Amino acid sequence: MHHLDLKAKRDMLPEMSDFSDEIVIVGAGPAGCTLAAMLAQRKIRCVVFDDDKRPELLVGESLIPGVVPVFQQLGLEDRIAAMSTRKPGASFFVTDDGPRLHFSFKNVEGHLPPYSYNTPRPELDNLLRLRAEELGARFVHTRAELEPCTIDGVPSIQLSSASLEQAGLNPNGRYFLVDASGRARTFSRVMNIPAIRGGRDDVAYFAHFEDFDHDEVETGQVIISVLRAGWSWRIPLPGRLSVGIVVNKEHAKTLGKTAEERLENAIRQEPILAAKGSRARRVSPVMTYTNYQLLSEQGHGPGWVLLGDAFGFVDPMLSPGLFMSLEGARLLDTCLFSKGSSILNHPQDLKRALDRYSRRIVQWHHAWTELVRYFYNGEIFRIHLAGKNLAMKPSPFNIASIMERHSTFHIASMASGGYTRSLYSRSLMRLLSKYLVWQVPAAENFAVRDAWHPPRSQAA
Ligand SMILES: Cc1cc2nc3c(=O)[nH]c(=O)nc-3n(C[C@H](O)[C@H](O)[C@H](O)COP(=O)(O)OP(=O)(O)OC[C@H]3O[C@@H](n4cnc5c(N)ncnc54)[C@H](O)[C@@H]3O)c2cc1C
Repeated sequence: MHHLDLKAKRDMLPEMSDFSDEIVIVGAGPAGCTLAAMLAQRKIRCVVFDDDKRPELLVGESLIPGVVPVFQQLGLEDRIAAMSTRKPGASFFVTDDGPRLHFSFKNVEGHLPPYSYNTPRPELDNLLRLRAEELGARFVHTRAELEPCTIDGVPSIQLSSASLEQAGLNPNGRYFLVDASGRARTFSRVMNIPAIRGGRDDVAYFAHFEDFDHDEVETGQVIISVLRAGWSWRIPLPGRLSVGIVVNKEHAKTLGKTAEERLENAIRQEPILAAKGSRARRVSPVMTYTNYQLLSEQGHGPGWVLLGDAFGFVDPMLSPGLFMSLEGARLLDTCLFSKGSSILNHPQDLKRALDRYSRRIVQWHHAWTELVRYFYNGEIFRIHLAGKNLAMKPSPFNIASIMERHSTFHIASMASGGYTRSLYSRSLMRLLSKYLVWQVPAAENFAVRDAWHPPRSQAA
């Protein structure tokens, strides 16, 4: 637990009469609001600092089936469905002349909902916040100010007295702090906690378009394409298509000076986007994101814990972001109440629970990173092609085709958030990428490239 006056805290520890189980959440994005709603469902007092910064447009629109159970737990699925496009799966294309891979979430039926949603943000954030408020969470509409302190010699963090006052918190009370401030990484910055950075140095530009054709796949299906340089997403939303490009920073400079020029030139230059976007009208500003792959080196300390992007973010490729925020909130809630009631009052139990939570988040992060790598390095397309070849060959008891279905099931389940951490699924992927892939082109042919590579016809 956190204490405002550390000396006073030690003095007061024996008498717990004024102990307050207030949980203070910094940041009202999906992670913070989901946790607030879950705590409010348990009738735990919590207050959320919301800086009310809602840009017109936010990334994080394509969701995976793993988030649907959280929406259900919060009693929100109908409202989410009403403002979203139902997402039956995701397709992965390699440029205009390469293989195309279609994943249906039907594969995960039985252990996860066989669908998900493409949801406009910040509307989703607003709905999660509204739900937390309906359930009794308290919101303070101001930016939280934090400052470093120590608890028993260990670096920690506390709210400034101004923030305490704004939140109406008892200056002599005790509270537990959750950093859900996203990529602002508020606590880590104040406490100088370093982050491990991912290997890519990309920049993403995206905007919403009308009349951008999306007719190659089933309605609602997301398309991820390996481009001539970098990759792109196309996410169907109600009445619009969200189109984003993710390119190496050096390549981005060749596309123009401004974010608008860069996105629009990329769409014009990339054959796989140009034809579909020839009639398209941009109906939103272009947003830019950089330096997003990272994982904090520490996930919790005395009186505080990190959640969502504030803890870490893998990569946009397979859309694990919202899942990690929502599942992280669910995990944290479960850990804090692992004994049936709040363990905030029991320092040893709390430390063990937070260790467990942090370990689990790091495991998730590594598992997603491993999976995403197969998509960046092109291995996933090799596995797919090899599987197709195998399935076409006659085999006793049709074993080859059963194998192909089995591997498709596991890949889809990993990308849905169901089996992402499963040791069996991960080992299967490693085996497939090592031993199954004979008589198929090298993975480099399907890999995401930093610099422009011409179509095969021009290269010849
Ligand atoms: C290019 C790109 C594409 C992506 N695409 C997807 C996708 O398709 N699907 C997906 O699931 N994920 C995607 N993501 C990731 C997703 O957007 C994030 O993982 C998700 O938004 C994290 O939620 P969060 O609540 O942790 O943080 P945030 O959404 O960043 O929310 C944090 C909130 O805290 C507020 N805040 C910060 N500091 C303070 C303070 N001191 N006091 C009060 N408030 C504060 C901020 O204003 C913000 O509202 C993408 C990410 C990138 C970079």
